[in-house]
Amino acid sequence: MTGHSTGVRGSARLADPTTITVDVTTPRGAFTVTTTADVPLAAPTASAVPLLVPVAMRHGHTLRLDGAVDDTQAAGLDRVQTTLTSWYSHLGRATVDAPVVELPVDRAAGVGCFFSGGVDSFYSTLTRDERITHLIFVVGFDLAPGHPLVDTALTEVRRAAESLNKTLVVVRTDVREMSDRHGMSWGPLYHGAAMAHVAIALSDHVGTVLVPSSFVRGQTPPWGTHPDLDHHWATATSVLEHDAIEVTRPTKIARIAQDPTAMEHLRVCWQNRDGAYNCGRCEKCLRTMLALRAVGGRCRTLPHHIDSDAVGALRLTSGQARAMRRNIDAMTAAGTGTPDLLAAMQRAVDRSDRYWSRMFRAHAWVTARLPF
Ligand SMILES: [Zn+2]
Repeated sequence: MTGHSTGVRGSARLADPTTITVDVTTPRGAFTVTTTADVPLAAPTASAVPLLVPVAMRHGHTLRLDGAVDDTQAAGLDRVQTTLTSWYSHLGRATVDAPVVELPVDRAAGVGCFFSGGVDSFYSTLTRDERITHLIFVVGFDLAPGHPLVDTALTEVRRAAESLNKTLVVVRTDVREMSDRHGMSWGPLYHGAAMAHVAIALSDHVGTVLVPSSFVRGQTPPWGTHPDLDHHWATATSVLEHDAIEVTRPTKIARIAQDPTAMEHLRVCWQNRDGAYNCGRCEKCLRTMLALRAVGGRCRTLPHHIDSDAVGALRLTSGQARAMRRNIDAMTAAGTGTPDLLAAMQRAVDRSDRYWSRMFRAHAWVTARLPF
């Protein structure tokens, strides 16, 4: 079998001014990714590269590209592959078979920020207000294109963007099918590549795009968006910046709690039980509601009533337990927690302490008995 028959081949084009299609041929068959926006798109081939490189790495083969890559992108791909292969043993290095052209770095002055309507994106938007010109909402990332909440989420982000005086760009893509089809997990690996695809496609409008950090420095697992990864997806016309890695989630929540727009439109829930925008009952909703209550924030899109039984049943990481302790102290000091709720929060913290203490003891027991 030749390299060509087992490799990955990609061909991208502007099907019309606002639509990029990427035809991909892989050992697992052919597939077309379609990305559209409410503004004209650019750089179809460069924007397809981040989508294709992980697929080629997954299959450990050459990526043959119909088109050239610029020298900034070629250098970055080397760094991207070094990082990803150091994290994930199921990925191998892929050779990108395409001409490399030297292009001067020339990026549009506009600065975008990925904006899901959540805590991280509101924090970055509010604290980088002077830099950010555009907010980018992508249908097809956490909300699938046919999800019943797409219209509601769009209405909320449109109102938020208007209130924050930013231009909203709405992008729709079926790129997530690509990662599912090739067994590449969305959070730990592929969503960062998908963001790079969108940023490069929007490079006529925004030369720099901020990626709000999901984690805080020192507690950053291998993840699709990462301070060691995002900026290496750069091209001559586009660069991603990983934003606010130094800020903890409680600090972000305290900041956005002071902002009326965030408190009017916040979207934190990914479970959407009973079709709710924010269900108010899942772990993420509850942690956000408690953190907001601790700093006196009142959010229209989250229920005001907090179910003590659900809080008492939360399973917390050690970091989340620390944050919960701070919330208990803050709510006690401010008199904003009922005895029921405070007791439930304490139960969740105590359970977490017992669990992690057992885990550490078990780890020490095993380590002490290992013969090396
Ligand atoms: Zn929820």
